[in-house]
Amino acid sequence: MIVRLIVFLLIFTLLWYLVKRILTLLDKTTQKTRPPHQGNTSFDADVEQMVICKKCGVYTPRNHAIKANETDFYCSQEHYDQRKK
Ligand SMILES: [Zn+2]
Repeated sequence: MIVRLIVFLLIFTLLWYLVKRILTLLDKTTQKTRPPHQGNTSFDADVEQMVICKKCGVYTPRNHAIKANETDFYCSQEHYDQRKK
């Protein structure tokens, strides 16, 4: 009777270990496919880059912002016009 219990516990422990191992492996593979969030200065093409309006400090998608030069962006035509004055 006690032998059966030991065998059962051994099988249970082995299964538990295998499940944990598989979960860790799955987690590692999903982390590989995901783009890194920290320490990456380059942006992916599918991620829309946000720029800060030089006038009001609002974050605007780069393709919606009005570009004054390589570093200066504005959220609207109004703010861009105010820059000139
Ligand atoms: Zn603005």
